[in-house]
Amino acid sequence: MLHDDIGPAPGPARDLPDWFFEGSSDCIEIIDLQGNIARMNGSGLHAMEVESVEQIRNAPWMGFWPVESQPTVRAALHAALGGKTAHCRAFRPTLKGSPKWWDVNIHPVGDESGKTMHLVAVSRDMTDLHNAELALSEEKERIGLATEAAELGLWRYTPHLHLFTFQNGRARAIFGLAAGSMDRTEEQIVREAIVPEDRDRFQRAIQAACEQGERLTFHGRIRRADGEVRWVDMFGHAHRAEDGSAMYLLGTVLDITDRKSTEQALHDAQLRLAATLNAGEVATWTWDIRKNLVYGDRNIAYLFSLPEEEAHETPLESFMGAIHPDDVDRVSSSILKALQDGTFYQETYRVRARDGKFHWIVARGRVEYDAEGLPMQLPGVVLDVTLQKEIEDKLHASEDRYRALFESIDEGFCIFEILRDAQGEPIDYRFKESNSAFRTQAGYEATPGKTILEIFPDLDRRWIRLYADVAKTGQPVRIQDHVDMLNRWFDIHAVRVGGQGSEHVAVLFTDITNRRETEDDLRRLAFSLAETDQRKTEFLATLAHELRNPLAPIRNGLQLIRLAGNNADTVARVRDMMERQVTHMIHLVNDLLDIARISSGKVELKKREVDLKEIVATAIEANLPSIQNKQHELNVDVPEEAFPLEADATRIAQVLGNLLNNAAKYTPDGGQIDLSMRREGNDAILRVTDSGIGIPVEAQGSIFDMFAQVKDNMGFSHGGLGIGLSLVQSLVQLHGGDVSVSSPGSGQGSSFTVRLPLLDSRRDSALDARSPTGKAKADGAGLRVLLIDDNVDAAQTLAELIQIGGHEVSLAHTGRQGIDAVEGFKPDIVFLDIGLPDMDGYAVLRKIRQGPIGRTVPVAALTGWGADGDRRKTADAGFDHHLVKPAPLPLIESLLAEVAQTLRARKS
Ligand code: ADP
Repeated sequence: MLHDDIGPAPGPARDLPDWFFEGSSDCIEIIDLQGNIARMNGSGLHAMEVESVEQIRNAPWMGFWPVESQPTVRAALHAALGGKTAHCRAFRPTLKGSPKWWDVNIHPVGDESGKTMHLVAVSRDMTDLHNAELALSEEKERIGLATEAAELGLWRYTPHLHLFTFQNGRARAIFGLAAGSMDRTEEQIVREAIVPEDRDRFQRAIQAACEQGERLTFHGRIRRADGEVRWVDMFGHAHRAEDGSAMYLLGTVLDITDRKSTEQALHDAQLRLAATLNAGEVATWTWDIRKNLVYGDRNIAYLFSLPEEEAHETPLESFMGAIHPDDVDRVSSSILKALQDGTFYQETYRVRARDGKFHWIVARGRVEYDAEGLPMQLPGVVLDVTLQKEIEDKLHASEDRYRALFESIDEGFCIFEILRDAQGEPIDYRFKESNSAFRTQAGYEATPGKTILEIFPDLDRRWIRLYADVAKTGQPVRIQDHVDMLNRWFDIHAVRVGGQGSEHVAVLFTDITNRRETEDDLRRLAFSLAETDQRKTEFLATLAHELRNPLAPIRNGLQLIRLAGNNADTVARVRDMMERQVTHMIHLVNDLLDIARISSGKVELKKREVDLKEIVATAIEANLPSIQNKQHELNVDVPEEAFPLEADATRIAQVLGNLLNNAAKYTPDGGQIDLSMRREGNDAILRVTDSGIGIPVEAQGSIFDMFAQVKDNMGFSHGGLGIGLSLVQSLVQLHGGDVSVSSPGSGQGSSFTVRLPLLDSRRDSALDARSPTGKAKADGAGLRVLLIDDNVDAAQTLAELIQIGGHEVSLAHTGRQGIDAVEGFKPDIVFLDIGLPDMDGYAVLRKIRQGPIGRTVPVAALTGWGADGDRRKTADAGFDHHLVKPAPLPLIESLLAEVAQTLRARKS
């Protein structure tokens, strides 16, 4: 029909067979060389929705193309006008405006000469195809966007090539491949990317997808080139050929590592939450205020000891039953208050839980109101804080213990904070706390808040520096130091409290002033002990020396006598010498024994009433030889009056003798010695002064100590042992007196003063009446003396001494000889040694007493033992006298005198 509407065809239309022109389903247009449409076939009119041919006839062809299509179409048109077949695809809506896409071929049609007569444009309606293409590319874009957004990697697998092709950057990134590298063989992928444990699964998944048409799913790990392992999910789908074989697999790959760890974290959190909830530490509840019902969870039921089902819907009162009786009121009023004020509700209290124990809980909630503003419900949570509470309690207890500890210790304790200036230099410290012993120990109050410089502005800054160092380094310090400010010694222990950067220092300290003093005393004592020990050592050396010294001349003397026994002069000289040496030895040994007795408290004084003047006389007499030997001048100044005292005369004579002897010793030849005695109150004051070498002041304090000798004076000592003065002091003290020394110093002489208490003066006359000393010696000559002693030498020397006194002596050297001699010799007195070789002295005495002579003869024991016990023993055995060996001659003389007197009395 449309065909009819087409006007008469111009010439060129004739070139196209009609069946073709009209039979074609494409739109065919004849365009003249001016570019105008000459003809359009029926399909074209229809497709272009042309209603009347007039609308297009002779209209410019380009006019039907919209602006956006014109450049493309014009290029094709020009090419065709230029004689070439041209092609283009462009958009041209119909005349009614329907959008259409056209695939256009323009052919030039020429005459026989080849000259172009007109153009034929064949346009195929491509709209559907175009739309499909558009949709496809849109789809592609969407997929791209979606895969990008989902971070999906796209891949393709070609089974017969065993080749993977990675189709986007994401896929390459997931597999860790370099940009640009697209393809990998399956074998490469398996070897390089899939972790060994997952390789089998991966290959099976691919095989299954290709061969059995299953969807490919793989969940596994790949190890990237940089070594990182990632979790991936791969999905794929096979595209098949008609014979059913898989042409290729298309698929996605997704890196799910992060999701996996998030999942894991979520999972963990859920587990924790569940655990927390299960542990009953958190519980939730809601109180429907209008219905007065509480809805609680499992943990609420547990905490409030309710059966689980009841906790879902229970009046508030049921809950109150579980609350600790002491807390109920507080909780009720707190809830009421929250209701009234609409405030937040929070209360800490105890509930008895299903385990039968009270749990501490914290309940919190907030009232919710309805539209009218009326309270509707109170939802909340409950936390079981028993554990925290216990920890807090423990903390408090430990805090209390700490307090108690520091309050109970005797050490001072304080904590302070170091204060620094802008440069960080320590300038002061501020007290934070202190214990009560602080005051006692330090002597001041460490008031919290006060700084040390506020209390002691003059404090030695070294203390601040010291403590600041402790804070800075964290190194504790322990020192003993003198705090000048307090003038006390302290033992101080300082430590930093808190970690690095803390400026707090704790100080523990004790006043050790007393301890130090004691220590000093101890040190002094130890020193003086050492000194005593030293003196003792020196003493023993001296002693050995002094005892040996006299032995050499004695032995020589004996030799001499043996050789020149006939020469009376030599014998006399030697005897004198030996006498001196022996006397010296006896003196030494006696001193030693005395000092030993005194220091062991064994000395016994034989006190009797005596006139001190007589003792003085005896002492002078005894020491005159040593004074005269050195040509000293002795001045004695003793008043006429009597000086009665109760004393051991021998001992006091010994005291005076020692002082005189020292004076003689320590004074260079030709010196002067003064002895004076006077009365001071009821005391006798005896003073021995010499013009000798004197005693240095520093030595005077120790001169009376045992073994003390003045170093400088040693040259004058002549065999002293350093015990003479010690003996003097002890003996004087035993008599209730004292002795002192004074010397202006070396070379200026010394003076020793003895003070002795006197007896009551009223008794003086009685004393005068009976003088103890008599001139017995003169009357005692001519006795018969028997000496029984196994020590031949000792016996003989004694015998000679006695004989010199004008007596007749018989000697016996064994007990038997002695017994016989008694009846034969008929002695007036017997001296009997106790230790005899054949029988002891006691046995000998018993025998002697059996004879007529022996029955009455006085017998004196000769023994080395002189203690009271020894004397008692001999007296009990029947001895009349007790003499200690070596018996002093004067004693023997007075004994003989006594015997002579008795004999005379008996005769008359
Ligand atoms: P000794 O004379 O045996 O050494 P003493 O105990 O009698 O011991 O005396 C102790 C020391 O005192 C003597 O060593 C001596 O140094 C000093 N001394 C004692 N008497 C005198 C004195 N009259 N003049 C100087 N020094 C004396």
